Amino acid sequence: MSPAPVLGLLPAEPDPVAGCATCQNLARKREDARAARDGSRVSDCNVLIRAHPHGPRPSGRQY
Ligand SMILES: [Zn+2]
Repeated sequence: MSPAPVLGLLPAEPDPVAGCATCQNLARKREDARAARDGSRVSDCNVLIRAHPHGPRPSGRQY
């Protein structure tokens, strides 16, 4: 339990959707960007993850 915010006013980051390869991929890129301390790329990935549509399930796998 660490209440201290890390980098000021960062909004909560979206979680990649389990089972979605695109989201998982973006989440990995986000980690890479974070490791490179590239904040704008991190937020790019966040935007893409948030915007990735998951409306109709492609096939099988009920959530
Ligand atoms: Zn997705």
